[in-house]
Amino acid sequence: MIAIAELPLADTLARPLRDLRISVTDRCQFRCTYCMPREVFGRDFAFLPRAELFTFEELTRLAQVFAGLGVRKLRLTGGEPLLRDVERLVAMLARVGGIQDIVLTTNGRCWPARPGRWRRRAWAG
Ligand code: SF4
Repeated sequence: MIAIAELPLADTLARPLRDLRISVTDRCQFRCTYCMPREVFGRDFAFLPRAELFTFEELTRLAQVFAGLGVRKLRLTGGEPLLRDVERLVAMLARVGGIQDIVLTTNGRCWPARPGRWRRRAWAG
C-alpha cells in the first residue's frame, strides 16, 4: 500500500498532476463499438452493483485528497455520468478547496430531461 505522502506529484514525464478524471458509473445507455460493444456489453452484462460504486461523499473526499496534492481540475465521466444525480456531486465538488475547474463528459442523452439544472455554457469545453 502506498501512503499519500509517497505519491508523486508529477507523471512519469515529470509533468505536474493537475487533472483528475473521476468515473462516476460504469453504465451507459449506448453501445458504441469502441467502448461498449454489444457482443461484450449485452443485456446480461453485469455492471457494478450500486452499492459498489463510490458514494458522492467518498468521491468528494478523494477530490479533497487529490486537491491537496495539487490537482486543480476534475473531469467527471462514466460510462455516462448523467445516469447518476451528478448535479449534486458537482455541488459537493465545487466546495473542495483548490479545485478551479469541473468539467463533464457526457453523451447528452439525458440532457433534455434535466432542463434548468445546468447553465448553457456548461456545454463549452
Ligand atoms: S460511455 Fe460514451 S463512448 Fe462509451 S458507450 Fe457510452 S456514449 Fe458510447
